[in-house]
Amino acid sequence: MNIIDTEAQFTSGVYAKQPIAFVRGLGATLWDADGVEYLDCSSGHGVANLGHAHPKVAASIFAQANQLITLFESFPNDKRAELMAKLTTLTPGLERVFFCNSGTESVEAAIKFARVSTGRSGIIAAMRCFHGRTMGALSATWNKRYREPFEPLVPGFSHVPYNNIEALEKAVTDETAAVILEALQGEGGVYPADPAYMQAALEICHKHGALLIIDEVQTGFGRTGKMFAYQHFGITPDLLCVAKSLAGGIPMGAVLIGESVKNLAPGTHGSTFGGNPLSCAAALTVLEVMEEENIPQQAAEKGAYLMEKLNAISSPLIREVRGMGLMIGIELKQKSTPYIKALQDKHIIALNAGLTVIRLLPPLVITYEQLDEVVAALAEVLQGEQLGDGD
Ligand SMILES: *Cc1c(COP(=O)(O)O)cnc(C)c1O
Repeated sequence: MNIIDTEAQFTSGVYAKQPIAFVRGLGATLWDADGVEYLDCSSGHGVANLGHAHPKVAASIFAQANQLITLFESFPNDKRAELMAKLTTLTPGLERVFFCNSGTESVEAAIKFARVSTGRSGIIAAMRCFHGRTMGALSATWNKRYREPFEPLVPGFSHVPYNNIEALEKAVTDETAAVILEALQGEGGVYPADPAYMQAALEICHKHGALLIIDEVQTGFGRTGKMFAYQHFGITPDLLCVAKSLAGGIPMGAVLIGESVKNLAPGTHGSTFGGNPLSCAAALTVLEVMEEENIPQQAAEKGAYLMEKLNAISSPLIREVRGMGLMIGIELKQKSTPYIKALQDKHIIALNAGLTVIRLLPPLVITYEQLDEVVAALAEVLQGEQLGDGD
């Protein structure tokens, strides 16, 4: 069977398919169907923070699959109980947890929790933000290309410029249920939040009886150099959305919930697969490995190393390099897609973000030698001839 042709024939059509079929991974390395090696700087969009096929995560999934895979959350379970206790120790002040299966579901849950808690409907998000693609999360998401085909969206949502305190002060009223912000905007172009903005956002929300939701679906679990990016800002949000790398690649999302959040009575929300023992066992092992291997610290150190090397590339194409930890954006003066294709030709898998940014989200276990390979490939691609749009 030709993998690429078969997918092209049967795909829904909603994905722009790349011309490489991957069949195996280990750490930051991926292999295609012919055994050709690639260096993964995408981590499946920030999922494989511990790399591919981590032996401890794989063993824990296998063991739990032989024990108990599924159990609705109305019945308590050993792995779920352990994970609830463990996860909340990582987020002091957020002492309860709701489990679901993806990032967009964690945002949906947080929006519902904010509305039921405050009895208000207003949700304020930021321009350039990405919060997911189901109808509620999509209503918070900024990109017109994602939104417009599906209007009318959920009422009550509005957008303000990111990192602008004054605009937020004007927008938040006594009708506002919540403000939702990424700690570092990922899909929108890798824009870190100013700590002062995040601190002000929390104050403004609380002054009006609104809640602050931080979406760390992409930035959570060590990515930015701390376990959670909000911990760089010296604040605690009311609701924290996580997913992507939580269970090492097994689908799982969660909302961490502060005590300001009220009215979460039985029946208010739920999920068939949420908190299933298989995902919980995987997540528990992920969190253990993150501690044993000091993964957030590794991301901080490797991120600083990579940032320094990237800043040393002299290319007239580069406008700015920015990011936190191992979440780095290289903003070009032109469209980034042709350069991401050129990197693929050099067997480096990178992502775009916005139109002009090359985004690097490598597994946090990537080696320094591999980081040097990435820098060398980027330097070649960005110092070579200028590439056209290709579209
Ligand atoms: C990826 C992402 C989502 C959506 O997660 P899915 O698992 O794809 O639904 C939401 N918010 C942010 C910040 C993301 O990066």
